[in-house]
Amino acid sequence: MPTIDFDQVKACIDVPPTAERLLSKCEKEIRFSVNLLLYPHGLVEADAYIVYHNTARGPGKGGLRIWPTVTAEHTRALAELMTWKTALVGVPFGGAKSGIALDPSALPGANKTAIIKEYVHMISSELMSGAYVPAPDLGSTASDMAVIYGETHRPESVTGKPPRVGGLPGRREATGYGVARIAALASEALLSQPINQARVAVQGFGNVGGWTCRFLAEQGARIVGVADLTGGVYREGGLPIDELSAYVAEKKGLAGFPGDAITNEQLLALDVDLLIPAAVESVIDEHNAGEVSARLIIEAANGPTTPAGEAVLARRGIPIVPDILANSGGVVASYVEWHQAKSGAMTKKEETYQTVAEQLEAAFSRVRSTVCSRRITHRVAAWVVAVDELIRTMRDRGWIPAQG
Ligand code: NAD
Repeated sequence: MPTIDFDQVKACIDVPPTAERLLSKCEKEIRFSVNLLLYPHGLVEADAYIVYHNTARGPGKGGLRIWPTVTAEHTRALAELMTWKTALVGVPFGGAKSGIALDPSALPGANKTAIIKEYVHMISSELMSGAYVPAPDLGSTASDMAVIYGETHRPESVTGKPPRVGGLPGRREATGYGVARIAALASEALLSQPINQARVAVQGFGNVGGWTCRFLAEQGARIVGVADLTGGVYREGGLPIDELSAYVAEKKGLAGFPGDAITNEQLLALDVDLLIPAAVESVIDEHNAGEVSARLIIEAANGPTTPAGEAVLARRGIPIVPDILANSGGVVASYVEWHQAKSGAMTKKEETYQTVAEQLEAAFSRVRSTVCSRRITHRVAAWVVAVDELIRTMRDRGWIPAQG
C-alpha cells in the first residue's frame, strides 16, 4: 500500500499532506473466518476479509472475490482501486472490497450457497447498515448476489443481482460494455484506427472477457484470439463469439474449441492491435512484457500489468489504458442499480448502457486531456483526475483543511 505512486501524482497537482495520509491507508479492515460443516467435505474453513479503503464519496463499493489466492493485502489493494475508480467515473461510492479464500470450482452449488449465507451472517452489520455494498467479482456470480439479497431482504444491500430479483437490466454485461466502449475510444484516439478495423486478443472469457468480446464484435472488431484457465484458441479470420459462449457454457472452458490451440503466453504475445487482459492480475510482468506485440493494451482485469511489466512496455512505446478507467462500467451500473433499489424505479437496459457510456466517455475525455496537457501516461493521468476529485470531496466533508 498504496498502489498508486503519489510522487507522480504530486508532480502534477498539489496533494495536501493530510489528503495523502488519508488516501495512503485503509479506513477499516475486518478479518473473519467462514467455517462450515459441509458434506462430503467435512469442516470447510476459509479466511475472509472486508476492507474499506476510503468512504469520503459514499458507501464502500467493491466486489466479493471468491478465489484461492485471496489475502488481506490483496483485498486492500483491490479496495484502494475502487476508491480511484469511483472518483474517476464520478459515482458517489467509496472504495471497498471483500474476499473469501476458497476455490469456487471446488464448491458444488448448494455448498457455495451455504458459504455465502455464512459470509452474510458474519458481516451482517456491514451489509444491513448499507456501509458495504458488494457485487460480483472473480469467482462470484449474479446468483451469489441473489443469495446475499435473500439473506438481507434489502435490495440496495448488494448490486449485480439478476433482474428478476431486483437487479438492473444491463448490469451483468456493463463491465464488458464499458471495456468495449473505452477500447473503441482509445483505438481512435491513440491508434487513429476505427474499432471496426481492429484485430483483438482477449485473455479471460468469463463475465468481463466474454461480454467485452461480444460488444467488440458487434462494433465490427475482429477477435482473433482468446484464452482462459483451460487454454486458448486463435483464428486469423475472427472467432465466432456466440459459438464460443455456448461452448464455454457447456464445457466450462475454451480448451478444445475449433481453431489453432494457443497457450496464455502465446495469447499475450499475439501481434494484434488491442490486447485486453480480462482475467486476473499480474499476467504481464517484466518477464513477458518484452514479448507483447500489441499496439495498445486495455486493462479489463484489475491490475493485470505489474509496475515492472509496465516499465518495459513504456520503453517499447506500448500504451496502457488502465483498469480504473477501462473496467469501471460495472461500478457505474452498480450505482444505477443501487439507486433503482432505493427509489423503486424501473430501468431499461438501454438506459443502463447510456449511463455507462456517458460516465466513461466523460472520464476518458478528462484522462486524455490530462495526458496531453501534462505528457504523462494514461495511468498517472487517471490517478491525477481521481485524487483531485477525492481531495475536493474530502474538503467538502471537512476531512482535510479547506486550504493546504
Ligand atoms: P470470471 O470469474 O467471470 O472470469 C474469469 C476468467 O478468467 C475465466 O475465463 C477464467 O478461466 C479466466 N482465468 C482465471 N485465471 C486465469 C489465468 N491464470 N490465466 C488465464 N485465464 C484465467 O471473472 P470476471 O468477473 O470476468 O472478472 C475478471 C477480471 O475483471 C477480474 O480481475 C475482476 O476483478 C475484474 N473486474 C470484474 C468486474 C465485473 O463486473 N465482473 C468489474 C470490474 C473488474
